[in-house]
Amino acid sequence: MMRAVHDGVGELLMDEAAIQAEVARLGAQISADYAGKSLHVIGVLKGAAVFLADLMRAVTIPATLDFISIVPYGQVTASGVVRIRKDLDEPLEGKDVLVVEGVCASGLSLSYLLRNFQTRKPASLKVCAFVVKQRERPADVTVHYVGREIPDVFVVGYGLDAQEQYRNLPYLARLA
Ligand code: 5GP
Ligand code: MG
Repeated sequence: MMRAVHDGVGELLMDEAAIQAEVARLGAQISADYAGKSLHVIGVLKGAAVFLADLMRAVTIPATLDFISIVPYGQVTASGVVRIRKDLDEPLEGKDVLVVEGVCASGLSLSYLLRNFQTRKPASLKVCAFVVKQRERPADVTVHYVGREIPDVFVVGYGLDAQEQYRNLPYLARLA
């Protein structure tokens, strides 16, 4: 353990320096890939909020911002669908869209979102996730920009919660 952590928090996976290094790398990669274009960033609330705030400031090309809030697949066990709690404010038609997620686990939330967004006719549609779990996912889910691949364990911090707690931790750790 590199430092004392918060109550209820276990093994440290990424400290602040490691996170900022990945954010800088992703920001530079995205800025290069979209050079000469303008990026329309969609943050998936709430888990992406902290990552997005840092990532946006590491992107050097013009960028606009919108948010969507969903009730993820895992919390809607009976129906197995993703529900939109708050939809986008702006249309996607003709835009180069980058969806920013905090964590991609089963990929079912992203699968739903990507199919939904594709019907809104963006010029392009890509995904950036802060962390991606090493596990099987639906074939239609590609995460183009990955902060870090992690084992399939439950993680908190840097925007990710356990029952709304721990989002404010500046590092990523396993839940104890
Ligand atoms: P999915 O399984 O659809 O890829 O992820 C659904 C949602 O489950 C994520 O957006 C996130 O809200 C939540 N989730 C999945 N794995 C984790 C995790 O390790 N930590 C936290 N805090 N949330 C997770
Ligand atoms: Mg959650």
